[in-house]
Amino acid sequence: MSKWQKNKFLIVSLQSQKQKMASESIIEEKKQGQALYTNDKVGNTKKLFIESYGCQMNLNDSEIVASILSDVGFNTTTILEEADLVLVNTCSIREKAEQTIRKRLQKYNRVRRINPEMKIGVLGCMAERLKTKFLEEEKMVDLVVGPDAYRDLPNLVKEVESGKDAINVILSKEETYGDVSPIRLNTNGVSAFISITRGCDNMCTFCVVPFTRGRERSRDPQSILKEAQDLWEKDYKEITLLGQNVDSYLWYGGGLKKDFKKASEIAQVTAVDFSKLLEMVAEALPKMRIRFATSNPQDMSIDVLHTMAKFENICKYIHLPVQTGSSRMLKRMNRQHTREEYMDLIDNIRKIIPNCAISQDMITGFCGETEEDHKDTLSLMEYVKYDFGFMFAYSERPGTLAANKMEDDVPLETKKRRLSEIINLQQKHGLYRMQKFVGKTMEVLIEGNSKKSDMQWMGRNSQNAVAVFPKGNEKIGDLVLVNIEDCTSATLIGTRNKL
Ligand code: SAM
Repeated sequence: MSKWQKNKFLIVSLQSQKQKMASESIIEEKKQGQALYTNDKVGNTKKLFIESYGCQMNLNDSEIVASILSDVGFNTTTILEEADLVLVNTCSIREKAEQTIRKRLQKYNRVRRINPEMKIGVLGCMAERLKTKFLEEEKMVDLVVGPDAYRDLPNLVKEVESGKDAINVILSKEETYGDVSPIRLNTNGVSAFISITRGCDNMCTFCVVPFTRGRERSRDPQSILKEAQDLWEKDYKEITLLGQNVDSYLWYGGGLKKDFKKASEIAQVTAVDFSKLLEMVAEALPKMRIRFATSNPQDMSIDVLHTMAKFENICKYIHLPVQTGSSRMLKRMNRQHTREEYMDLIDNIRKIIPNCAISQDMITGFCGETEEDHKDTLSLMEYVKYDFGFMFAYSERPGTLAANKMEDDVPLETKKRRLSEIINLQQKHGLYRMQKFVGKTMEVLIEGNSKKSDMQWMGRNSQNAVAVFPKGNEKIGDLVLVNIEDCTSATLIGTRNKL
């Protein structure tokens, strides 16, 4: 079995096992790799086909790209064959993600035989990781653009239209696209993402993100507030503040987080941290539901928990990846906290926000993981009893510290068994958490039709659990009270409370 076949086999998320649990960390399954579209702008004549893979930040980046290209004559299309420009926003987090993109590129190239004028471009993390390799070796693409170079797209597209290849993979110290108004793609008109930080400084040894998205920088709070206000005026009811590590947000006038200590005294004392930002948004838009993702345990402060508890409109849900329950493995992963410190944080969340849902990301079979370490993961899961989870087998990524310095030594069969053990345990805990809602009445924000029946609405409660209930005279975007009468491990089943 080749290396990528092994990984394809191994990298089983909860979703691929058809256990539909919600998570903030990954684009909704139905939007992964789907052609993204928005309303046409009058006067635009060129056609852009754009797909996004990977995390929600990628989807939000695709919205920024659509906005930049809309200003130079492109409307979106969902018909590949008629596209003038095909863009794929890529993910490098695991090897399987990259293999999926390669297959898509082969597909685009087959279509190009019918439409030879079509230009093909790769955006995002894979573009940043492979750079000129795409143009030189693969000959499948005309355009390669890294996550910090989207403003250059109008120039790069012109180059490509004149028959040349074009590339910009320069990472930036300042770029946050703060002044670009994203064009919402495939939107339900109810929930939208707002990026608040870019890049990541954590240097987890398994992770490729710092190399593909650059160093961490935060976006001006005023531009975040403006975008949130704009969404409210367009009738959106829920926003998710996005970043690789939102709790590390720090605005001191612009620049890299690592340079904060070099800033002037006045810039340091007037700096806005994540808890302050949350408060500013929650106060400015008291009827807007506010979510955020992803939280990194090492940076989550008690202040953030108090802010969450204080404001009703901040949803009671934290996505708090831990990756492993073993302090030894946390150290090897360079996660900057121990198992005990993580458990203390969980205790604080339960104390300060008793009704808060918590979800995890876990990696099984990281370099050197023993049976003891795996048992520590299972026992930590028993301690927390997570509401949701995303679990992955370790996939070695070129260029990371783990790939350079550690041996990927856990056998395939062992990774697979450990992964299925944690998935089974998560499913048990998911059901346990869902059952706690049965018999209660809760606010649900209606997002659309239930997948199973047009006669039912689907929405989410504050804790991000999906609820379905029979339709009455409500509409999409209404916040309604639902009596929860039954559940599965993934869905709450209820009826509208009419009182
Ligand atoms: N910034 C978040 C953090 O550090 O906790 C999330 C980063 S990543 C976009 C989402 C998840 O992918 C991670 O939490 C981790 O579980 C998983 N992941 C990252 N690198 C991986 C790798 N090399 N192999 C398998 N899973 C990986």
